[in-house]
Amino acid sequence: MKSNRQRRAEIKAKRAKRVMKLTTLRHPRHAFGETPAGSLAADHSALSHNNTYGLLPDYYVDQCFICRDCGAQEVWTAAQQKWWYEVAKGHIDSRAVRCRACRKRIRDRKTAQKRHMEAMAARPRHPNEAFFRRRMRPPAG
Ligand SMILES: [Zn+2]
Repeated sequence: MKSNRQRRAEIKAKRAKRVMKLTTLRHPRHAFGETPAGSLAADHSALSHNNTYGLLPDYYVDQCFICRDCGAQEVWTAAQQKWWYEVAKGHIDSRAVRCRACRKRIRDRKTAQKRHMEAMAARPRHPNEAFFRRRMRPPAG
């Protein structure tokens, strides 16, 4: 028969173990109080825009990811992560999904589209534009 004191100690130890497990799941070395080589320290005050119940990172490490569009393998560096989360104020659950080339392709397409729209808006109007506008309206009823 265990005493209450023994039982309480057991429960406390079990709970501590569970908390440790949850912590190490999200931050592999967090529980050991060390940071991996080549990691960048996180600035929690710069991360305060994240209204999260989860833990904020203490550091960033280079991460490998597969590009969503072309399947290329790319590294999301610790410095890029720090910039994304702390300067650009990216959401803490957001991750890099596209490689540099694919992001550039999307950006170029958007720029071209914007330039086209500006050119269309700046083009000289048709002398009888009101006529065409009326004709293009869908029939009433
Ligand atoms: Zn790609």
